[in-house]
Amino acid sequence: DNFDNMNLSPELLRGIYAFGFERPSAIQQRAILPVLKGHDMIAQAQSGTGKTATFSISILQKIDTTNPQCQALVLAPTRELAQQIQKVVLALGDFLKVDCHVCIGGTSAREDMTRVSKGCHVVVGTPGRVLHLLKAGALKTDSLRLFVMDEADEMLSKGFQNEVREIFQHLPQATQVALLSATMPADVMEVTSQFMKDPVRILV
Ligand code: AMP
Repeated sequence: DNFDNMNLSPELLRGIYAFGFERPSAIQQRAILPVLKGHDMIAQAQSGTGKTATFSISILQKIDTTNPQCQALVLAPTRELAQQIQKVVLALGDFLKVDCHVCIGGTSAREDMTRVSKGCHVVVGTPGRVLHLLKAGALKTDSLRLFVMDEADEMLSKGFQNEVREIFQHLPQATQVALLSATMPADVMEVTSQFMKDPVRILV
């Protein structure tokens, strides 16, 4: 149970330790390696377990910062959560020169469009704005390596079903998917079975 033997880059390890983490939490110990190996993943995890850092570390290890295009897309149910996720990605990725942009409602869609069109390694957003950017062709998915849905149960219960389904239609067939959810209601299980391949299941 050590970040040092998780095959993470020295720059990422530096970011993790600089952020104040000493040891991986239970979900980090179990989920990071399978995601780095390319498996789809479903984790049943509440806030407070270290879930945000779990997928942030996975993203930061997977992206190639020499490619300016979007390689990881994270969906969150609220604007506040999307902003918190961006902060964690930027802090853990402090020594990686990573670009991470938040795309949420209540801000200028035009500015998001300009920003995202230029290329951005990681995009974090709420479903409505992300779908808008995909439809407009501003957010390109050619280089996408990982798609994360945080608080999937919250997202689907807030009526984002149709947006989420449409977002999946924009992703390349082979995109790896990681889903985190506090509970596993039928609507989450349905999305899971429809859009994921043999996911690793983790319960914390
Ligand atoms: P989350 O489950 O993402 O809401 O994270 C809950 C809290 O745990 C946050 O304040 C994180 O900064 C903290 N945290 C996450 N992973 C670790 C770790 N490995 N060591 C210490 N604190 C952590």
